[in-house]
Amino acid sequence: MLNASHMSNMAALNFGSQRMRNSLALCFGDPNATAAVAAQYRTRQFQEVAKQLPLATFSTFMIVIASLLVALRTDRHVALVAACGLVLTSLATIHLITWRRHRRPKEAQAQKTVSPSTAVWLSANLGIGAFLYGVITLCMFDALTESERVILTGTVAAVIAIGAWMFSALPLVGLLWSFLFCAVVGVGLISFFWQDYGVLAALLALYAFFLISGVLMTSRRFVESLIAETEISRQREIVGLLLRDFEENANDWLWETDSMGRLCHASVHLVEAAGSKQPLLGRNFVDVLGSLIPVSNQAQVRLLARLELLLDQRKPFRAILVEIRIHDQQRWWSLTGKPQFDSAARFTGWRGVGSDVTTAHLHDLEMTQLARFDPLTGLANRHQFHQQLAAYFPADGPALPCSLFLLDLDNFKTVNDSLGHTAGDELLREVAQRLRAAAGGRGLVARLGGDEFAWLIPGNLPREAIEESHRYLRKVLSQAWQYQDYSIAVHGSIGVSFAPADARAAADLMRSCDMALYAAKAAGRDALCYFDPAMEVQASQKLGLLGDMRKSLEAGDFRVYYQPQIDMGNGTLAGFEALVRWQHPKRGLVPPAEFIALAEDSGLIVPLGAWVLAQACHDAATWPPTLRVAVNVSAVQIERADMYATTLAALQRSGLPTQRLELELTESSLMRDADAAQSLLRALRAKGVRIALDDFGTGYSSLSYLRSFPMDKLKIDRSFVSILDEAGSDGSAAAIVQTIVQLARTLHLETTAEGVETEAQLEALSQLGCTYGQGYLLAHPMAADQVIPFIERWTGEQVAPLSRLTAPSPLDEAALRQASQEAQPSQSQRLVLHTGWSPLI
Ligand code: C2E
Ligand code: CA
Ligand code: CA
Repeated sequence: MLNASHMSNMAALNFGSQRMRNSLALCFGDPNATAAVAAQYRTRQFQEVAKQLPLATFSTFMIVIASLLVALRTDRHVALVAACGLVLTSLATIHLITWRRHRRPKEAQAQKTVSPSTAVWLSANLGIGAFLYGVITLCMFDALTESERVILTGTVAAVIAIGAWMFSALPLVGLLWSFLFCAVVGVGLISFFWQDYGVLAALLALYAFFLISGVLMTSRRFVESLIAETEISRQREIVGLLLRDFEENANDWLWETDSMGRLCHASVHLVEAAGSKQPLLGRNFVDVLGSLIPVSNQAQVRLLARLELLLDQRKPFRAILVEIRIHDQQRWWSLTGKPQFDSAARFTGWRGVGSDVTTAHLHDLEMTQLARFDPLTGLANRHQFHQQLAAYFPADGPALPCSLFLLDLDNFKTVNDSLGHTAGDELLREVAQRLRAAAGGRGLVARLGGDEFAWLIPGNLPREAIEESHRYLRKVLSQAWQYQDYSIAVHGSIGVSFAPADARAAADLMRSCDMALYAAKAAGRDALCYFDPAMEVQASQKLGLLGDMRKSLEAGDFRVYYQPQIDMGNGTLAGFEALVRWQHPKRGLVPPAEFIALAEDSGLIVPLGAWVLAQACHDAATWPPTLRVAVNVSAVQIERADMYATTLAALQRSGLPTQRLELELTESSLMRDADAAQSLLRALRAKGVRIALDDFGTGYSSLSYLRSFPMDKLKIDRSFVSILDEAGSDGSAAAIVQTIVQLARTLHLETTAEGVETEAQLEALSQLGCTYGQGYLLAHPMAADQVIPFIERWTGEQVAPLSRLTAPSPLDEAALRQASQEAQPSQSQRLVLHTGWSPLI
């Protein structure tokens, strides 16, 4: 039975014999070599043996002569010795010819390989030689005296050993030689001299064993050295190939100098790259570079001096970027170099690589430019601005004094909307250029995005200097800008804040300046405002209000109030305008003036407006069928929501006939995206919904808009109505109202006068031919449950409220959520305090 130890012993034995086999195979050649390499090895082995042949031939002649002399002297075995001698000398002659044939110039030898049969032939030759040597030895042994035999034994042992060593490069030869020689002599000794020389025969056997082992060992070493040599030359070849490939194909070039810094190798690419016809070899490397750098480029001249110092100090360098000019072209080279030393550690020169990195470098430059500058205007961008701003607020010390101007164009949107984006871009470029000129290199002018610019000025500027700068800026900016056939006035609102007075950190300075800018915008066109700490309070109040509004939307704290609209011709009730009110849980009733703008800026107007529309339709459905309801629609709703679908859904849910709904839009909301607005109005009117143009006369009224937009009514703004009966009014207000009414009539539109507060106004309006009137004189906006009693009072008739068709439409939660997300105050969505009048009921 086999146990584990048996098994491991057998495995060890197996392993041992495998190793032995491998090692034996290695004596004859590399077992892993390809046929070509094996042939090369065989040739080298053959040549190694062939090299010894002249000496062997010479020895053969000497031995043959000596043994012939001995045979003749003793008159023993003369014929046999002569015969062996003859064959041996013939073989020796053949060997000499063989040697001569293989003693060719190295290159020729390298090409011609020795076939296995040639190797076997040489082995056989030398084997026969060994056999005959053995026979001659035995003859001599027999002929010589006792004492002479001792000398013979020593000599023969030496001859066998020398031969074995000489022929061991080709193991077959070495083995045949040692084995046959020893075997013949051994067999002879045993056969003829057993009695006296049996011990010698045994010793000979031992000697043969050692010789054979020696031959195998030597031949294995020889093969190993051949393998090592092949590997080295293969690696050398690969390196050579790689270098050649590198030099031929890459954009790179190699350079090499002697210890004096003179170029002793310059690859074709260097010559090409240098663009010089002058031979480069022998010229100083730094001089060559120097000749390519214009003297005016001081930075590069300094860089070259640094490079020269490095070369002098024999310090290696990497990727030094040199800017050069070749054929009037700017190029960049990246240089790497390493000092070279010989085996005795003596400095021999430099070796290195150069690359033309122009494309990559230009790309890098472009990326940096893009990363730091605004591509449209060429001014510093937001990133660079913030970087420079941050430098005024060191982490480990007090803020450095600086002044910050933030400028926002007042009419940019109008230009962009009405003349197109190309005009908008052109205007931004123009403003950038004017700002740059106004700054005159003082501080940093940057474009922060959109139509917002910043000017950061270092140092403590007195107010007078700031005001002077503002005056100058205004002057520069206000010059009319000529674009195609248009002449456009450029105005900007400016916010100013100072460090360290207004802020201790970069972000605070931005914030304070932003607040000053909002205030400037709210103050009207072309204004400049300094930051005031009170602005901060207002801003935080606004933020709080926004949070409250979101909660109130969910809690249902909004109400819709209704203000009657009266027909001026017969005094009948025409309908009501729906006006939203906010029942704030803590602040009580908040008027729209305080939250509509905020809702618009934050996007909350979308769910809020949809809810008002649904609620108004729902309430109006309970009124007598002759009464209409007018609902205000914000520009943001038109922009961000599908107003068509929202309106139809509100009508459908409430069951209100479409003809009883009127949407009030402002001019500005139609101008933002005129095409979209136009198609929306067309679609709604096709369904029967009426359209009124709200606050008419306050916007950029354009006759072409009025004609192209489908609508039913103009609402004359309260500002015209309120001055109708003002003492000292020269009648211009009346003229304006009359013009509007006439214009409306020409366009087949009705008119509603807003904000009628006095009898005189009412009288004047009805004389001017206004269709409807609305105002506190007639009625204040009222809660929904006051509407039916009001109708009854006004008409003097009892009104039976119509039953509700459906439940009020709940607030669309998804829309609310989306609007809440959009409601995060952002750079572009400014929370500007609404500064309109705010009449409370
Ligand atoms: P508006 O569309 O011009 O609405 C008329 C405003 O004039 C209402 O102010 C109304 O209360 C007020 N008013 C009416 N008669 C008189 C008067 O005789 N004298 C004076 N001084 N004021 C009068 P309210 O309700 O404060 O609304 C202000 C603005 O808020 C509205 O102006 C409208 O632009 C906006 N708004 C109100 N409700 C909504 C809404 O549901 N959606 C949208 N998008 N905007 C709304
Ligand atoms: Ca309105
Ligand atoms: Ca209005």
